[in-house]
Amino acid sequence: MKVGRVYNFSAGPAVLPESVLKEAAEEMLDYRGCGMSVMEMSHRSKMFETIIQEAEEDLRELMNIPDNYKVLFLQGGASQQFAMIPMNLMKNKVADFIVTGQWAKKAWQEASKYGKANKIASSEDKTFSYIPDCSDLPISDDADYVYICENNTIYGTKFKTLPNTKGKTLVADVSSCFLSEPVDVSKYGIIYGGVQKNIGPAGMAIVIIREDLITDTPLEGTPTMLTYKTHADAKSLYNTPPAYDIYICGKVFKWIKSLGGLEKMKEINEKKAKILYDFLDESQLFKGTVVKEDRSLMNVPFVTGDEEMDAKFVKEAKEAGFENLKGHRTVGGMRASIYNAMPTEGVEKLVAFMKEFEANNK
Ligand SMILES: *Cc1c(COP(=O)(O)O)cnc(C)c1O
Repeated sequence: MKVGRVYNFSAGPAVLPESVLKEAAEEMLDYRGCGMSVMEMSHRSKMFETIIQEAEEDLRELMNIPDNYKVLFLQGGASQQFAMIPMNLMKNKVADFIVTGQWAKKAWQEASKYGKANKIASSEDKTFSYIPDCSDLPISDDADYVYICENNTIYGTKFKTLPNTKGKTLVADVSSCFLSEPVDVSKYGIIYGGVQKNIGPAGMAIVIIREDLITDTPLEGTPTMLTYKTHADAKSLYNTPPAYDIYICGKVFKWIKSLGGLEKMKEINEKKAKILYDFLDESQLFKGTVVKEDRSLMNVPFVTGDEEMDAKFVKEAKEAGFENLKGHRTVGGMRASIYNAMPTEGVEKLVAFMKEFEANNK
């Protein structure tokens, strides 16, 4: 049976590699001769132990994660980290936030429940369409950490250089750019993200945390489940983990390795995004909404400048098999999320469709 797959430009949950889905389908009823699905097996079994260990090893290899960092597979998505980070890191009860969109804002607001959360820079004045200059910010002397959202899913901006934290620990939400290009993990105290944008099924966050930040004295009243040490000590098996999620993520890690790793992934992503950005730059009808130097490789928002035309485009695109191109409800327009698993062909076909639409709507 040929399944009718669309080109899915959703910001998340998002497209997954077709080969990964097929492999999972083949293993659904009987995982490698054990007579059951991964969903049905004990998380304490030898089978699952191998799955979680391989997933961690492959991720460590892909991201070149130093030995003094732990990799945690945690429930609660990215949003749970908005609380977990201050609860575990706010020794002085002070943290500095660079607010470049709604996700950074939510993290900042959540942290303010636990201590003094300073907004030291923002791009809200221009609807988060750029990344502020972060070379010389008023970092607090007693800040426990400086927080960024590295790729802003809703607005389509990305930090191309990390902020100068003046020696303070950097914490970054990379939900929508996870594994899209190489990163130097050693520059971060915590680098984390929800997996449903660029890696796997919704419901899990991967947290990569430097060991010295793992404390057994988080803020008073911090639940056991929200203490990093609980999960670090138990190798993400303190309680029943999101086992099927870990299994699919593990397959995606192997898929990226088979393509040639993160250097290669970046090359593919740059070429792919260029096809769309080049068209937006020359189009008379469509235009990108982000300043050029801060453009994301993953999320590409664009508008026609006319809401009715935008709606017509989204509707006709859907009919032609291009799904989820509507922009975020707070910004309108369109957004094409072109994560790792979006084939280049999908972007080429989208651009061909946009050209045709433009010609028909002169
Ligand atoms: C989607 C997203 C989140 C929220 O993720 P959940 O797993 O739904 O909590 C947080 N940060 C960024 C950058 C996102 O794109």
